[in-house]
Amino acid sequence: MAEKIKLHAVIPESTVNGPGCRMVIFFQGCAKLCPGCFNTETHAFEPSEVLTPAELFEKYHTGNIEGITVSGGEPFLQPEALYDLLQYAKEELKLSTVVYTGFRADRIKQRAEERRCAEHIDVLIDGGFEEANPETTLIARGSTNQEFYFMTERYTIEDFYLKARTELIVADDGTVRSTGFARVTLPEDSAKSPDSPDSSDSV
Ligand code: SF4
Repeated sequence: MAEKIKLHAVIPESTVNGPGCRMVIFFQGCAKLCPGCFNTETHAFEPSEVLTPAELFEKYHTGNIEGITVSGGEPFLQPEALYDLLQYAKEELKLSTVVYTGFRADRIKQRAEERRCAEHIDVLIDGGFEEANPETTLIARGSTNQEFYFMTERYTIEDFYLKARTELIVADDGTVRSTGFARVTLPEDSAKSPDSPDSSDSV
Protein backbone atom coordinates (compact mmCIF):
# COMPACT_ATOMS: atom_id res chain seq x y z
CA MET A 1 0.00 0.00 0.00
CA ALA A 2 1.49 3.34 -1.06
CA GLU A 3 2.31 5.88 1.61
CA LYS A 4 0.16 9.02 1.63
CA ILE A 5 1.90 12.34 0.99
CA LYS A 6 1.27 15.28 3.32
CA LEU A 7 0.97 18.07 0.78
CA HIS A 8 1.12 21.83 0.88
CA ALA A 9 0.10 22.41 -2.74
CA VAL A 10 0.31 21.07 -6.28
CA ILE A 11 0.78 23.16 -9.42
CA PRO A 12 -0.34 20.96 -12.33
CA GLU A 13 1.76 22.77 -14.97
CA SER A 14 4.74 25.10 -14.61
CA THR A 15 7.61 26.05 -16.91
CA VAL A 16 9.84 27.74 -14.33
CA ASN A 17 10.47 24.87 -11.95
CA GLY A 18 12.85 22.75 -13.98
CA PRO A 19 13.11 21.57 -17.59
CA GLY A 20 10.02 21.76 -19.80
CA CYS A 21 6.47 21.68 -18.52
CA ARG A 22 6.32 20.10 -15.05
CA MET A 23 3.91 19.34 -12.24
CA VAL A 24 5.26 20.90 -9.04
CA ILE A 25 4.49 19.05 -5.82
CA PHE A 26 5.11 20.86 -2.54
CA PHE A 27 5.45 18.65 0.53
CA GLN A 28 4.23 20.14 3.80
CA GLY A 29 6.58 20.65 6.75
CA CYS A 30 10.12 21.94 7.23
CA ALA A 31 11.99 22.55 10.47
CA LYS A 32 15.01 24.27 8.97
CA LEU A 33 13.55 27.79 8.88
CA CYS A 34 16.17 29.33 6.57
CA PRO A 35 16.06 33.15 6.76
CA GLY A 36 14.47 34.53 3.58
CA CYS A 37 12.72 31.24 2.65
CA PHE A 38 10.07 32.00 0.01
CA ASN A 39 7.79 29.20 1.18
CA THR A 40 7.12 29.91 4.83
CA GLU A 41 3.58 28.54 4.42
CA THR A 42 5.12 25.10 3.99
CA HIS A 43 6.94 25.09 7.35
CA ALA A 44 4.05 24.00 9.58
CA PHE A 45 3.41 20.27 9.69
CA GLU A 46 -0.36 20.52 9.11
CA PRO A 47 -1.01 19.50 5.49
CA SER A 48 -3.54 21.07 3.15
CA GLU A 49 -4.19 17.72 1.52
CA VAL A 50 -3.14 14.10 2.04
CA LEU A 51 -3.03 11.86 -1.05
CA THR A 52 -1.43 8.65 -2.31
CA PRO A 53 0.61 9.04 -5.50
CA ALA A 54 -2.20 7.47 -7.56
CA GLU A 55 -4.76 9.87 -6.05
CA LEU A 56 -2.46 12.83 -6.66
CA PHE A 57 -1.99 12.07 -10.36
CA GLU A 58 -5.67 11.22 -10.77
CA LYS A 59 -6.53 14.69 -9.49
CA TYR A 60 -3.76 16.86 -10.97
CA HIS A 61 -2.21 15.14 -14.02
CA THR A 62 -3.05 17.13 -17.14
CA GLY A 63 -1.22 14.84 -19.55
CA ASN A 64 0.92 17.75 -20.78
CA ILE A 65 3.93 17.39 -18.49
CA GLU A 66 7.32 15.80 -19.08
CA GLY A 67 8.04 15.38 -15.42
CA ILE A 68 7.51 16.30 -11.81
CA THR A 69 9.43 18.67 -9.56
CA VAL A 70 9.21 17.90 -5.85
CA SER A 71 9.79 20.70 -3.39
CA GLY A 72 8.56 21.91 -0.05
CA GLY A 73 8.75 22.10 2.74
CA GLU A 74 11.23 19.28 3.09
CA PRO A 75 10.44 16.24 0.92
CA PHE A 76 12.94 14.00 2.75
CA LEU A 77 11.06 14.38 6.03
CA GLN A 78 8.52 12.04 4.40
CA PRO A 79 10.97 9.53 2.90
CA GLU A 80 8.52 6.65 2.40
CA ALA A 81 5.94 8.87 0.73
CA LEU A 82 8.66 10.50 -1.39
CA TYR A 83 9.93 7.10 -2.51
CA ASP A 84 6.44 5.90 -3.46
CA LEU A 85 5.72 9.14 -5.35
CA LEU A 86 8.97 9.02 -7.33
CA GLN A 87 8.58 5.34 -8.11
CA TYR A 88 5.01 5.88 -9.36
CA ALA A 89 6.02 8.87 -11.49
CA LYS A 90 8.98 7.05 -13.04
CA GLU A 91 7.69 3.53 -13.45
CA GLU A 92 3.93 3.93 -13.97
CA LEU A 93 3.89 7.25 -15.83
CA LYS A 94 7.39 7.43 -17.35
CA LEU A 95 7.87 10.98 -16.09
CA SER A 96 11.18 12.60 -15.23
CA THR A 97 11.84 13.53 -11.61
CA VAL A 98 13.56 16.56 -10.10
CA VAL A 99 13.78 16.95 -6.31
CA TYR A 100 14.77 20.05 -4.35
CA THR A 101 15.81 19.55 -0.74
CA GLY A 102 17.03 21.78 2.03
CA PHE A 103 19.29 18.95 3.25
CA ARG A 104 22.75 18.38 1.83
CA ALA A 105 23.32 15.30 -0.31
CA ASP A 106 25.86 13.93 2.20
CA ARG A 107 23.20 13.75 4.88
CA ILE A 108 20.76 11.97 2.58
CA LYS A 109 23.39 9.37 1.64
CA GLN A 110 23.80 8.40 5.29
CA ARG A 111 20.14 7.44 5.80
CA ALA A 112 18.95 4.29 4.04
CA GLU A 113 15.29 5.32 3.81
CA GLU A 114 16.28 8.64 2.22
CA ARG A 115 19.11 7.27 0.08
CA ARG A 116 16.86 4.75 -1.69
CA CYS A 117 14.79 7.64 -3.11
CA ALA A 118 17.76 8.30 -5.39
CA GLU A 119 16.85 5.15 -7.35
CA HIS A 120 14.05 7.20 -8.93
CA ILE A 121 15.53 10.71 -9.10
CA ASP A 122 16.91 12.21 -12.31
CA VAL A 123 18.20 15.41 -10.69
CA LEU A 124 18.65 16.30 -7.03
CA ILE A 125 19.27 19.93 -5.99
CA ASP A 126 20.41 20.26 -2.41
CA GLY A 127 20.81 22.93 0.24
CA GLY A 128 18.52 25.43 1.92
CA PHE A 129 18.07 28.98 0.67
CA GLU A 130 20.87 31.37 1.64
CA GLU A 131 19.77 34.97 1.69
CA ALA A 132 23.36 36.19 1.39
CA ASN A 133 23.98 34.21 -1.81
CA PRO A 134 20.97 34.71 -4.12
CA GLU A 135 21.07 33.21 -7.60
CA THR A 136 20.94 36.07 -10.10
CA THR A 137 21.09 34.14 -13.39
CA LEU A 138 18.27 32.11 -14.98
CA ILE A 139 19.52 28.86 -13.51
CA ALA A 140 16.78 27.12 -11.53
CA ARG A 141 17.87 27.52 -7.95
CA GLY A 142 17.25 30.06 -5.23
CA SER A 143 20.83 30.57 -4.07
CA THR A 144 24.28 29.71 -5.31
CA ASN A 145 25.11 27.29 -2.46
CA GLN A 146 22.62 24.80 -3.91
CA GLU A 147 24.26 22.07 -5.99
CA PHE A 148 22.89 19.98 -8.87
CA TYR A 149 23.39 16.20 -8.85
CA PHE A 150 22.59 14.52 -12.15
CA MET A 151 21.71 10.95 -11.16
CA THR A 152 20.78 9.81 -14.70
CA GLU A 153 21.55 10.98 -18.21
CA ARG A 154 18.08 12.50 -18.67
CA TYR A 155 19.18 16.11 -18.13
CA THR A 156 22.29 18.28 -18.06
CA ILE A 157 22.91 21.64 -16.43
CA GLU A 158 21.89 23.39 -19.69
CA ASP A 159 18.34 22.13 -19.14
CA PHE A 160 18.16 24.11 -15.90
CA TYR A 161 18.80 27.49 -17.51
CA LEU A 162 15.17 28.57 -17.85
CA LYS A 163 13.43 31.33 -19.83
CA ALA A 164 12.23 33.14 -16.72
CA ARG A 165 12.66 33.04 -12.96
CA THR A 166 8.99 33.29 -12.13
CA GLU A 167 5.51 32.89 -13.61
CA LEU A 168 2.00 33.88 -12.59
CA ILE A 169 -0.81 31.35 -12.71
CA VAL A 170 -4.40 32.63 -12.81
CA ALA A 171 -6.99 30.23 -11.37
CA ASP A 172 -10.58 29.89 -12.61
CA ASP A 173 -11.75 32.00 -9.66
CA GLY A 174 -9.40 34.85 -10.63
CA THR A 175 -6.88 34.40 -7.86
CA VAL A 176 -3.25 34.63 -8.88
CA ARG A 177 -0.39 32.44 -7.70
CA SER A 178 3.27 33.10 -8.35
CA THR A 179 5.85 30.36 -8.64
CA GLY A 180 9.51 30.10 -9.50
CA PHE A 181 12.77 31.43 -8.13
CA ALA A 182 12.08 35.12 -7.61
CA ARG A 183 9.87 36.81 -5.08
CA VAL A 184 6.79 38.49 -6.55
CA THR A 185 4.51 40.82 -4.59
CA LEU A 186 0.88 40.50 -5.66
CA PRO A 187 -2.05 42.78 -4.75
CA GLU A 188 -3.67 41.38 -1.59
CA ASP A 189 -7.10 40.85 -3.14
CA SER A 190 -5.74 38.69 -5.94
CA ALA A 191 -2.89 36.86 -4.30
CA LYS A 192 -2.56 33.29 -3.22
CA SER A 193 0.46 32.13 -1.35
CA PRO A 194 3.64 32.19 -3.42
CA ASP A 195 4.79 28.70 -4.21
CA SER A 196 8.38 28.50 -5.10
CA PRO A 197 10.09 25.24 -5.41
CA ASP A 198 12.46 26.18 -2.98
CA SER A 199 13.06 29.24 -3.92
CA SER A 200 12.66 27.91 -0.90
CA ASP A 201 15.03 25.12 -1.43
CA SER A 202 14.88 26.33 -4.51
CA VAL A 203 13.34 24.98 -4.78
S1 SF4 B 1 14.51 27.14 2.08
FE1 SF4 B 1 13.82 24.98 2.01
S2 SF4 B 1 14.96 24.08 3.73
FE2 SF4 B 1 15.01 26.26 4.07
S3 SF4 B 1 13.22 26.74 5.39
FE3 SF4 B 1 12.57 26.99 3.26
S4 SF4 B 1 11.65 25.03 2.72
FE4 SF4 B 1 12.91 24.67 4.53
